Amino acid sequence: MYGVATLLLLAGGATFALSNLTASKQAVQERELQELLTPPGYATQLQSVLNWKMGMRLYRSDTSRSSDTVESLFQRLNVDDQEAAKFIRSNSQLRRNLLGKSGRPIRAEVDEQNRILSLKVLWAQNDNSYIELELFRKSTSIEPESYAATPGTNALELQLQTHPLHASVRSATGRIQTSLFAATDAARVPDLVAAQMADIFGGEIDFHHSIHKGDHFTILYEALDADGEPMGYGKIIAAEFVNNGVTHQAMFFQETGSKEGNYFNLKGQSLKRTYLAAPLKFSRITSGYKMRFHPILQTWKAHKGIDYAAPTGTAVHTVGKGVVRSAGWMNGLGNVVFVDHGNSQTTVYAHLNQINVRTAQSVDQGQIIGTVGETGWATGPHLHFEFRINDQYKDPTSIARQSVPIVLSKTALAEFNQQANAIRTQISRTSAEDDHISLAQ
Ligand SMILES: [Zn+2]
Repeated sequence: MYGVATLLLLAGGATFALSNLTASKQAVQERELQELLTPPGYATQLQSVLNWKMGMRLYRSDTSRSSDTVESLFQRLNVDDQEAAKFIRSNSQLRRNLLGKSGRPIRAEVDEQNRILSLKVLWAQNDNSYIELELFRKSTSIEPESYAATPGTNALELQLQTHPLHASVRSATGRIQTSLFAATDAARVPDLVAAQMADIFGGEIDFHHSIHKGDHFTILYEALDADGEPMGYGKIIAAEFVNNGVTHQAMFFQETGSKEGNYFNLKGQSLKRTYLAAPLKFSRITSGYKMRFHPILQTWKAHKGIDYAAPTGTAVHTVGKGVVRSAGWMNGLGNVVFVDHGNSQTTVYAHLNQINVRTAQSVDQGQIIGTVGETGWATGPHLHFEFRINDQYKDPTSIARQSVPIVLSKTALAEFNQQANAIRTQISRTSAEDDHISLAQ
């Protein structure tokens, strides 16, 4: 149901290779082993073995925990090194980044006596790079003799390096039986990627209200790693979602030389929207939440808005940039915010538990204007959302469909079509795996 695909055409980022240093260390060790095989006499042989053992390196890895102390960390890594322990305690950069942080890969290289030769901690930054902080014994020699001759005299040093995260492409496909998140879990798609898919198709599919059993999806997305350690996920490269029998496709495209990319359908039409698809982020919480009652006095038929069931306190985002026309109490609507987006277009957010904005305040698209509640005529926590043009009610789902036209130049379109063809092949190949699995079951 999931797999790792290689799309050379699209996979970005730098490749991370073993350093030359590591390679030369290995070469030296191989030579040493050859010397062991020549029999120059027992004493020499024994010394060689001892030396070789003295120069032996053991590699251990673990993950940092927020509760870590130097002792607990060393215990898990089986490190016995008072000198290094003292160094870590006295160095604020190490304390800050090695202890008290959870989920960071840690790699230790120790000698025969469990002394640290190198201790590395890795963590990702927001700009697709990661930091490698390394504590190491400077004069650790690859020559066993010199290392054995000067035990405990090597100075501990600290080195900080920044490297690009390595991006690879993963593919996943799944079919909805109960909920989108149950299906993405089964396909081992991370929540952030599932939410990103809901966002990309948000102008065409109402993920909060119109997901059906049997709907299926295929996603190609970036996985980011730091020297082989998984560090997170990048953007969706392409996706297909079949909703109620209708196929929707999307592909990220960035013209060569251009600074910004956008999502398009495979015909080259932009999926970029003037407004966000929904005032609530599509998440595991909001997707699984059901309204206990229908809103009072509002049958679905006469209903002028769209309701999003969500727990009290869930963040409500304005779907577009604008100015708060009013923020306060109104009968029926409870705590309500009206946002004026210009062009006589207004959005309404009602039954709020908390209001975070004031009348006449400017708001950016996606800004949190309040939280879900059940104030006014509501029998359960939900957000009542309306879209109005000249104060006339409009179908709120139509707001999401207002796209920002991005016209591709002839050159860009040629490049686009080439990529779109590769994507089509990859999507059908991935979803075919799913069909194969379904038939086999
Ligand atoms: Zn409503």
